[in-house]
Amino acid sequence: MADILLNEEELMLRSAVRAFAEKELAPRAEGLDATEHFSWENWKAIAKLGLFGIGLDARFGGSGGTAKQSALVVEELARACASTSVSYLVQVSLAAHPIDRFGNERQKAKWLPKLASGELVGAFGLTEPSGGSDAVAMQSTAVKKNGHYVLNGSKTFITNGSVADICLVFASLDRTQRHKGLVALVLEKGMRGYSTQKLSHKLGIRGSDTAALFFDSVEVPEENRLAEDNQGFTVMLETLNGSRINIAAQALGIAQASLDVSLKYAKERQAYGKPIADLQAIQFYLAEMGMRVEASRLMTYHAAMLRDAGKPFVKEASMAKAYTSESAVFCSDRAVQIHGGYGYLRGPAERYYRDARVTTIYEGTSEVQRVTIARQMLRESP
Ligand SMILES: Cc1cc2nc3c(=O)[nH]c(=O)nc-3n(C[C@H](O)[C@H](O)[C@H](O)COP(=O)(O)OP(=O)(O)OC[C@H]3O[C@@H](n4cnc5c(N)ncnc54)[C@H](O)[C@@H]3O)c2cc1C
Repeated sequence: MADILLNEEELMLRSAVRAFAEKELAPRAEGLDATEHFSWENWKAIAKLGLFGIGLDARFGGSGGTAKQSALVVEELARACASTSVSYLVQVSLAAHPIDRFGNERQKAKWLPKLASGELVGAFGLTEPSGGSDAVAMQSTAVKKNGHYVLNGSKTFITNGSVADICLVFASLDRTQRHKGLVALVLEKGMRGYSTQKLSHKLGIRGSDTAALFFDSVEVPEENRLAEDNQGFTVMLETLNGSRINIAAQALGIAQASLDVSLKYAKERQAYGKPIADLQAIQFYLAEMGMRVEASRLMTYHAAMLRDAGKPFVKEASMAKAYTSESAVFCSDRAVQIHGGYGYLRGPAERYYRDARVTTIYEGTSEVQRVTIARQMLRESP
């Protein structure tokens, strides 16, 4: 299974994370989905394994590592529990990574070691009730006053939002300037005027925390600003470009899990005195799922490898995200079909079907990815 794409170190990492996820996360996945709660047990187990430090500066408690390694970890976590994988990837690529990339030494020393150890939970607050795709039209405002920013507004759909200790939020210093007037601020739990509300009854990834955030004249010290004034858009864009590869990896894990259960069920389920795996229609479904999983894996690793090599990767990351998320939706839909009536009852296949659905929506919808892909291709073409 694509082992030629991985070196010894990556193979070892994959097999360690797979064994961990199968033992620790998979048995709890159904229960988390049913009860809709964030699992501190999973969080602590991941922390114990040291996975939160991947990709972060070793001087600040990180363990270094590559975008490809990070994607491998997300893929294996998602294969066992999609909810846990999104809580994890938000911590690593949307909260810790931008601090590592844009933070000054003091900010890194303050937050990175505790994010890398899992002691702090991080979140990323960009989407607002009035819109996510057109993010620069945000309504949240930050007004500079006596060494503080006075933050007003709200965010919604924020993963880890109600359990997070810190949240990187974006606000406008001057709404007439659109993307040129944004600032990135690190909010800390307990700041006066900062409150959260958990959002329940999601279709899928129900074991992940999703919340609305409210800012009522929150005084955020200037020392909590990442990069400079008016550079919030750069922080946002660079962060999302990289994180997109991990969403592709999450979708890949769900697609692979859908294929795994389908292969097993097709060999066990009997019709006409033989396994349904003998039916050509079922074989064609399995073949299509297999092709999509392989193509998704190649696209996801390719985007990560380009990033690791310091080469342009934005188009490839968007392609991987759009294709892999749509393949996860396809594969989980086929998994339900292969399971017949049992696929419609609570169980792994229907959970993958519900979990997969969000991957074409968050961190840039499939439509928005296509806009990015086409723009990049037109720019590159002679
Ligand atoms: C479970 C969950 C977790 C999330 N976690 C986070 C998080 O941690 N942090 C965060 O900031 N956000 C998060 N989000 C928000 C998510 O990123 C947004 O929902 C997403 O970006 C889409 O924004 P929207 O919902 O406002 O849809 P809209 O932007 O209103 O889009 C509505 C429709 O219009 C289409 N559309 C919009 N623009 C274009 C265009 N230019 N061309 C063609 N079609 C277009 C969209 O594709 C979509 O089909 C999360 C969402 C969910 C559901």
